[in-house]
Amino acid sequence: MASPALKSGETLEDRCGLVTQVTNRKYPKLKEVDDVLGGAAAWENVDSTAESCPKCEHPRAYFMQLQTRSADEPMTTFYKCCNAQCGHRWRD
Ligand SMILES: [Zn+2]
Repeated sequence: MASPALKSGETLEDRCGLVTQVTNRKYPKLKEVDDVLGGAAAWENVDSTAESCPKCEHPRAYFMQLQTRSADEPMTTFYKCCNAQCGHRWRD
């Protein structure tokens, strides 16, 4: 009497409609962000929020909060545009 168990896990596709295809393109001005975050792979499992992209005005962006310096300093919020064609990254 075993019934097949279907797992319904939320994926990035559900959240943003597109899966960002990670490329090797690097934007020099974002090197600092990449250094902090450990590269594009760090964005694969993060949540998205209603933050509009300053570049393409897409209404949603992935976000991460990190301690960039010492524990005494406030968290820095990093964003990445949910538009796979844009992929713009910025920080607070
Ligand atoms: Zn964008």
